[in-house]
Amino acid sequence: MVDPRAMTNSQDLSFSRWLEPITERVLQGGSVTREEALKMLSAAGADSFTLFAGANRIRETFQGTDVHLCSIVNAKSGRCSEDCGFCSQSVHFESAIPEYPLVGADEVVAHAEAAKARGSQALGIVAAWKGLRKGRQLDEVLDRIRKVAAVEGIHADASLGLIDDPEIPPLLKDAGLVTYNHNLETSRRFFGNVCETHSYDERIRTLQLLKAEGLHTCSGGIFGMGEEPEDRVDLALELKELDVDVIPLNFLNPMEGTPMEGRPLLAPMDCLRTIAMFRFVHPTKEIMVAGGREVNLRDLQPLMFVAGASATMAGHYLTSSGRSTTDDWQMIRDLEMDYRPPGADRPPGEAELLNRAAGNSASEAAPATSISKGVRFPVLDAADL
Ligand code: SF4
Repeated sequence: MVDPRAMTNSQDLSFSRWLEPITERVLQGGSVTREEALKMLSAAGADSFTLFAGANRIRETFQGTDVHLCSIVNAKSGRCSEDCGFCSQSVHFESAIPEYPLVGADEVVAHAEAAKARGSQALGIVAAWKGLRKGRQLDEVLDRIRKVAAVEGIHADASLGLIDDPEIPPLLKDAGLVTYNHNLETSRRFFGNVCETHSYDERIRTLQLLKAEGLHTCSGGIFGMGEEPEDRVDLALELKELDVDVIPLNFLNPMEGTPMEGRPLLAPMDCLRTIAMFRFVHPTKEIMVAGGREVNLRDLQPLMFVAGASATMAGHYLTSSGRSTTDDWQMIRDLEMDYRPPGADRPPGEAELLNRAAGNSASEAAPATSISKGVRFPVLDAADL
């Protein structure tokens, strides 16, 4: 029997007629209003695909068909003083994760080489602590940044927490840092439900200091923490105000031991509508789908690009494993997109790995997303891709 809701949706063109002038406006350099962005999140049935088609046009116009891949290394894990409710690295929660101090320069460089082999254009050095202070901690971090910056073909990026000292961003820049990540995570209104040990304004100030120094800023959020649609839109608008360069969109993968461990996963279509709304609000920016994509999007992962994403994370996340890189390469190729700009070097062994994946499911070679219990991620070699 035909679902009457589906019939109504497929024959009702009112959403499509509403969206068309908005899409044209954005393509001409205009912006969307808060109300329009909210309505995008409530699209249902066939209207969702109309929304994705509009977001896809905007992505192709401003970002083309190259997917930017980026990788991270969890360079200092666990025992963080902060209490972000989604995070298994907080000292306030009982998550079973590996704990270790800042790793040595050789290990960070090995991760940079592995990131390059995956086709990533950047390695983000991530540390679980409140923020950066001058002294030994900063000196060690600057050393790791210099070493990654010296690896040809890889940008040195970092996510090292709050910064309130205006003398720090110039030091990061001098060391060769390209992009600094610091997520706002959610709206100002909802932030108090996520974290109580520091403020939204401290996060904003960090981004402003970095921007003032001319560093690229990367800031986004996590969805599925119990926020309302309005919170997602307000986050998108706040990031527009801050004019960040890269916007990572994470979907909560509830971690055991955190206050959010019992939260349900988001519906895949809900994730995709959120990606599309961000593309409409940020037409020219890099929109990167990062943590939680495997468990929340499931088989709809390729649609993240159709819904407007232009980048994704390759390899492991901080405390959970990611998808096989060969599966990601294949997905991007199957969409008739590419993860290397024309003329750029291909990752070593790429053709062989894709052939092997075609004949022998690559997912057998890599674990599905799971929580790592006490095991520090090794540097991957080509056989693990
Ligand atoms: S998200 Fe960052 S600041 Fe918050 S608890 Fe985790 S490591 Fe600490």
